[in-house]
Amino acid sequence: MNLCMIGTGYVGLVSGTCFADLGNKVYCVDKDIDKIKKLNLSISPIYEPGLDELIKKNRSDGRLIFTNNLKKAVKDSDIIFICVGTPNKKNSKEVDLKYVYSAVKNIIKHVSEKKILITKSTVPVGTGDSIEKIIKKNRKKYIEVVSNPEFLREGEAIRDFRFPDRIVVGSNNKNIFKILNKLYQPLVNKGAKFFTTSRRGAELIKYASNAFLATKITFINEIANLCEKTNINIEDISLGIGSDSRIGGRFLRAGPAFAGSCFPKDTKGLVSTGDKFKIDLSVVKSVIKSNQKRKILHTKRINKIIGNIKNKKIAFLGVTFKPNTDDMRDSTSLNMIPYICKHGGKVFYYDPTGEKKQFKKIKNCIFKSNIKEACKNVDLIILHTDWDEFKSLEFNKIVKRKGFKVYDLRNLYNCEYMKSKNIKYYSIGRPDIS
Ligand code: NAD
Repeated sequence: MNLCMIGTGYVGLVSGTCFADLGNKVYCVDKDIDKIKKLNLSISPIYEPGLDELIKKNRSDGRLIFTNNLKKAVKDSDIIFICVGTPNKKNSKEVDLKYVYSAVKNIIKHVSEKKILITKSTVPVGTGDSIEKIIKKNRKKYIEVVSNPEFLREGEAIRDFRFPDRIVVGSNNKNIFKILNKLYQPLVNKGAKFFTTSRRGAELIKYASNAFLATKITFINEIANLCEKTNINIEDISLGIGSDSRIGGRFLRAGPAFAGSCFPKDTKGLVSTGDKFKIDLSVVKSVIKSNQKRKILHTKRINKIIGNIKNKKIAFLGVTFKPNTDDMRDSTSLNMIPYICKHGGKVFYYDPTGEKKQFKKIKNCIFKSNIKEACKNVDLIILHTDWDEFKSLEFNKIVKRKGFKVYDLRNLYNCEYMKSKNIKYYSIGRPDIS
């Protein structure tokens, strides 16, 4: 099939490239001219393992086309996927749909025959209905509006595209299911569940999924707080409850507040939809509140660990919200690093995906290009993101001074092991054995 992806971010670029790899001809369009220029040199604007190679291969096979020529891309395609961002409005829980509507208006200018227009972006219940109204107003009734939310995870996006648990398609027209089933056939053949529902149903499945996962994380994080006070190991609790097949063990690892480009904004977006329909989504509301508190709790804990932050040297390992991505959106590091620097501490940070523009203007926040450089002579090491390269560090060799401490937000190390090395070690939800 001929496909067009509008927006070449984490979702549009990965799914567009993967669709091309399945043999489709895919146009990827973005309003960001620099992104398209880079992509035409086979340089990915994002860090996602395996993506560069896949882009190169499919570009050279002529199936993957990066362009700013929306008109040609739309005219040549049977299916158009909207993959633009859907952030929250400034200081509001409400979802800002301006990128979606702007994309719709631009697309429909170039449509003069039957097309399927799919929202892959995460959009609130009823957005498809609003898009349909715009289409009707423009007398382009032959455009079919469908919801096909995306569930891939950054860092594992290619694998998630190829082996999804389920593909959700929401439409009010049953013929659409046949066409999309054909498009997704290679994935269905490998075991993906092809799940059909109403358009509104698909829109809500995406928000409800993310809110549920965020709830699971928040729940275990709160239990971790209790473990810290009661000298219990949170990992035993996670295993103990996660072994119940009704609960399941995933998303039960205690750590920092949930972050990233989806959970924070989608939990708020769902509450806002609830408010619109006068439904009090009190569970999700308290999840948002608890998560916000957790950001502060971990930041303030730095004081408890090293006392006065002033003039202390702190190594910060990993600043992205999770490993294998360069995505900084809503990362806890955005709270912690400015806090340390504001209180007179000096931060040396290292991230495998390089320096971050978010910290460039912060005084006393310095990027180091490797772990050793970041950790030399520090008072405290904060393990913020669980990149593999942080999992087997020989702290006593890399820190060139005595009495340093380690604050591990990901429970990457064994407490007894750290004690045996005479390292003062602080982790999440585990008994203090120092
Ligand atoms: P992103 O910010 O990485 O990418 C969005 C892209 O759209 C940008 O490159 C931007 O320039 C482009 N764009 C905006 N308006 C445009 C227009 N009118 N025409 C052409 N290009 C336009 O966003 P993302 O992380 O890929 O997320 C996209 C959507 O997918 C969001 O709704 C998000 O919630 C959802 N989603 C994201 C993930 C994820 O892990 N990032 C996972 C599942 C779903």
